[in-house]
Amino acid sequence: MIPFVDLKAQYKGIKDEVNAAIQNVLETCQFTLGSEVAAFEQEFSAYCNAQHGIGVNTGTSALHLALLAAGIGPGDEVITVPFTFVATVASIYYTGAKTVFVDIDPQTFTMDVKAIEGVITERTKAIIPVHLYGQSADMDPILEIAKRHNLVVIEDACQAHGAEYKGKRVGSLGDMGCFSFYPGKNLGAYGEGGMVTTNNPEYTRTIRMLRDWGAEKKYHHVLKGYNFRLEGIQGAVLRVKLKYLEEWTEGRRKAAGHYNELLADTGVPTPKEMDYARHVYHVYAIRTKSRSEWQEALNAKGIQTGIHYPIPVHLLPAYSDLGYAKGCFPHAEQAANEVLSLPMFAELGRMQCEEVSAALTMLANQ
Ligand SMILES: *Cc1c(COP(=O)(O)O)cnc(C)c1O
Repeated sequence: MIPFVDLKAQYKGIKDEVNAAIQNVLETCQFTLGSEVAAFEQEFSAYCNAQHGIGVNTGTSALHLALLAAGIGPGDEVITVPFTFVATVASIYYTGAKTVFVDIDPQTFTMDVKAIEGVITERTKAIIPVHLYGQSADMDPILEIAKRHNLVVIEDACQAHGAEYKGKRVGSLGDMGCFSFYPGKNLGAYGEGGMVTTNNPEYTRTIRMLRDWGAEKKYHHVLKGYNFRLEGIQGAVLRVKLKYLEEWTEGRRKAAGHYNELLADTGVPTPKEMDYARHVYHVYAIRTKSRSEWQEALNAKGIQTGIHYPIPVHLLPAYSDLGYAKGCFPHAEQAANEVLSLPMFAELGRMQCEEVSAALTMLANQ
């Protein structure tokens, strides 16, 4: 049996430290925000090479508040990709702004930078590139276009903790970076969590207020805010786990290296790590035209797989009001039909990669 992710194996390795950190929060009773959250904000933003970090309750809230801090609302347009988790688009919807999609580059699964300028209007205010699967979007052209058109760039780095673009950490490249600490992410809380990273002190001030009811100080509400605070227990757990993130990322990269090597001449298309990137393999996705058959055959052998994501956002019923039809974004639609995510976690060993690859090689030769 090879699971898709293995959170139990990870907990086993850090059990004593995590238990002590949680116990400490129980003793100090700093259950929401507090000193553990403040310390984690410092440590995680430093890890991203950004000056400020604002902890929030989810990655979705991080995106939502980043957009609000940039002044985005009704009448504005935000450019992003349809091949992403629905939360990227939901965060734009929450602000009242309109989502405008561009297709992905089929090789990287990230924003096709050549498509951006064609959809910019006088209402366009921001671009949200998604560092899908743990590989940075091609940021230089995106930042150059944004600069020329005076647009804010908000990185959706929810799958890309520690990923790099030309040697620089994601979360420090655009105006703001947004992270999720959902349990299954590369850095996962024991519950929910998120963070905005930025070098901008104004955005920092605004997001700090918005996450806690828009208060300048207690009961002095200067903005219409939210209850999007990060919990103390999550801050404490995340501080422990952050110390292991590099080691875990190297474990993922090593497993990806095994898959790449073992699948090299089998005809199974494997993901490409671009020259500009340090890919952190939140997801290792292959492509196949016979996905449901392959998924079923692997499952019968005890190999769990996932699909990220089976329906691009422009074809989801929830967002049909955006007005895009089938055929609008052929690369996103083809990827949605073909991608299959293999087991991927830091503790995944060579032998398990061999087992998965052998099963795939058999399927590819049928
Ligand atoms: C997980 C994820 C989010 C949302 O994060 P939550 O913490 O689940 O709210 C947003 N965008 C992408 C690309 C994600 O993978």
